[in-house]
Amino acid sequence: MTSGLEFRVTPATPVPAAERAKLIEDPGFGKLFTDHMVTIEWTEGKGWHDAELRPRAPFSLDPASAVLHYAQEIFEGMKAYRGRGGEITMFRPEQNARRFNESAARMAMPQIPEDLFLEAVEKIVAADRDWIPDGDGSLYLRPFMFSDEVFLGVRPAAHYIFCVIASPVGPYFKGGGKPVTIWVSDTYTRAATGGTGAAKCGGNYAGSLIAQAEAIRQGCDQVVFLDAAERRWVEELGGMNVFFVMDDGSIVTPPLGTILPGITRASLIELARADGVKVEEKPYSFDEWKADAESGRLREVFACGTAAVVAAIGKVRFVGGEFSIGDASTAGPVTQKLREALVGIQRGESNDERGWIRKIA
Ligand SMILES: *Cc1c(COP(=O)(O)O)cnc(C)c1O
Repeated sequence: MTSGLEFRVTPATPVPAAERAKLIEDPGFGKLFTDHMVTIEWTEGKGWHDAELRPRAPFSLDPASAVLHYAQEIFEGMKAYRGRGGEITMFRPEQNARRFNESAARMAMPQIPEDLFLEAVEKIVAADRDWIPDGDGSLYLRPFMFSDEVFLGVRPAAHYIFCVIASPVGPYFKGGGKPVTIWVSDTYTRAATGGTGAAKCGGNYAGSLIAQAEAIRQGCDQVVFLDAAERRWVEELGGMNVFFVMDDGSIVTPPLGTILPGITRASLIELARADGVKVEEKPYSFDEWKADAESGRLREVFACGTAAVVAAIGKVRFVGGEFSIGDASTAGPVTQKLREALVGIQRGESNDERGWIRKIA
């Protein structure tokens, strides 16, 4: 595939193979990076230019670069996998390209042609393919864009850098799939109607970190946010969508709007519905959650996203109490089945009926 923009290629001096192999044995999450990066620049009046695949290196930024002051920054998170047969694949990358542009629109940033986004991602995957761990690891790709115009006036910037870096990763949560505990924040919210909740922008994360820190202090793994208007409706975790499995087998998940439209979320909804499961995208309140957990109507809860895939939630803590879901120590059958169905497709181990897998040459 080509976007029409010529990529200048400057090969990196790679980390020696033996050292690389040792590094990716236990890569952790997001702390190890590959040899290359892709950068493409955008200038007002000129569009996208200077596409490069080059050695990963620090940026040199002027202290007045707009992103450092007004946070015009968006990103994506996606993975490349190495299948049993050695083939390299990605999961629905065109969805990430589309969402990236939706985030860009919300943040008054330029659109990047989807072909160019995909070409950039494929270029770094191909160049750094030896960094993809075997087994259940993968190569996490982080496309992002920020404004680096040197200007302190407040308006959309006139110059941006699009970049893709890659990080070999293992499981997001340590604990081998054991359910996580989450903290319900009654102090902080993540997004309001008309705000940036549906955009994948760094600013959303900046605003969520204090709540995440509170969750850790409360002995929890993650925070879950309620809506900003009423502090009543469950929205999502800091970086994952959430699903509720009822005793009649049906599933409820919060509707789109102020939450991030997860590709994992959309894929799981489609897989569950294809399996005859009733999935409702509808508001679900924290009060209902508590009552349904206590009555036993609620059987399973899980969070989902590219990084952690599907993570069971076993315990919920809030100001004034705590409750469990199921036996709180193992992922329930619906959570496990959906996780396996999705991972099977992502890893090329089951039939890709929906054309979700893209092979990287
Ligand atoms: C990225 C993200 C998700 C998950 O989206 P996926 O496309 O499934 O990875 C959920 N919530 C937030 C806030 C996110 O940033």
